Amino acid sequence: MSIKQTDERYIAHTYKRFDVTIVKGEGCLCWDDNGKEYIDMTSGIGVNAFGYSDPVWAQAVAEQAQLLQHTSNLYYTAPCAELAEILCTRTGMDKVFFGNSGAEANECAIKIARKYAAEHKGEDYYNIITLHKSFHGRTLTTLAATGQDNFHHTFLPLTDGFLYAEPNDIEGLQKLVSDNKVAGILIETVQGEGGVNALDADFVKAVERICKENDIVFMVDEVQTGNGRTGKLYSYMHFGVQPDVVSTAKGLAAGLPMGATLMSKKVSDVFSYGDHGSTFGGNPVCAAAAISVLSRMDDAFLAEVAEKGSYVKTRLEEAGYEVSGLGLMIGIKTKKPVAEVLSACIEKGVLCLSAKDKLRLLPPLNIPTEQLQKAVDVIIASLS
Ligand SMILES: *Cc1c(COP(=O)(O)O)cnc(C)c1O
Repeated sequence: MSIKQTDERYIAHTYKRFDVTIVKGEGCLCWDDNGKEYIDMTSGIGVNAFGYSDPVWAQAVAEQAQLLQHTSNLYYTAPCAELAEILCTRTGMDKVFFGNSGAEANECAIKIARKYAAEHKGEDYYNIITLHKSFHGRTLTTLAATGQDNFHHTFLPLTDGFLYAEPNDIEGLQKLVSDNKVAGILIETVQGEGGVNALDADFVKAVERICKENDIVFMVDEVQTGNGRTGKLYSYMHFGVQPDVVSTAKGLAAGLPMGATLMSKKVSDVFSYGDHGSTFGGNPVCAAAAISVLSRMDDAFLAEVAEKGSYVKTRLEEAGYEVSGLGLMIGIKTKKPVAEVLSACIEKGVLCLSAKDKLRLLPPLNIPTEQLQKAVDVIIASLS
């Protein structure tokens, strides 16, 4: 059987794959089993921040794997301690919990909000407000947090206590908070899976204000927007707000499973021994990868991400398309069905993503200008 046939036979059909078998990658390029070359504008859905098999990243991973790959969280290890310090120093947050995925980072955030509220207001203050069109993960609790009905049906009942507000509707949010006993509000500043919709700056500010006024935990899901993707280390930094909790994953370890939940001083002592845990959380190899990733994301690097994002936006707008997003997290309104655009791009050797009815681009953050130009040429040709 071919790889495709074996996969179709033995792997649960939860993913609708493209008819491409990728066998190797280098930087922003990858090759399929026929030797066809592709420019990658997906980063494995916002994960491979430095592209495929980046040599600096690979060396950090290999060195740690040869030294100490896992210990359990019963012992101290250097990489996760060092990574936590870097994350706190660069965000002004106070403490970190490490997990392995975006969903796990959000589960942790939700537990923090609930325990904070239980201790400060009472156990009936358990509601979490999220936004329509949001995406927060696939576990039964993060599915409940995901404000899209199509993900919910056939999996009911989900975790109780989630309420949904309309993005950018400050009054509606205020009313939900007034009418219910609320523990926390969880937002993505740019809704990724929901269609690459950036929230209005006024709304993000209002979420922070409403949380402060009501002693509610303000949580930002930076699973997709974090770790340099939008041209800032974390996207909340564009909005002049300081969340109480930030969850992140995807690009953090640039290709290894790692999630982190960052806690401000307000909530950093909410958890005590035994309240939460994760066997693989803070794994030394993943942590070493993340240290390497963050150490390369200085101001100059982040400015380049923003610049490349503007370049793509300008090119597409000049070609007559509506563009949304921030930095190298880009959504494009297509005139023909997005599936046709994706196929045309694959045909011409460029891998792209979709989000709802938009074309979505999440290229490696270090994509060379020349490859970016080539990919944009192909995308514009495929859009028409
Ligand atoms: C991808 C994503 C998640 C889920 O992350 P997993 O690692 O797949 O669990 C959660 N929130 C946002 C905003 C995401 O983009």
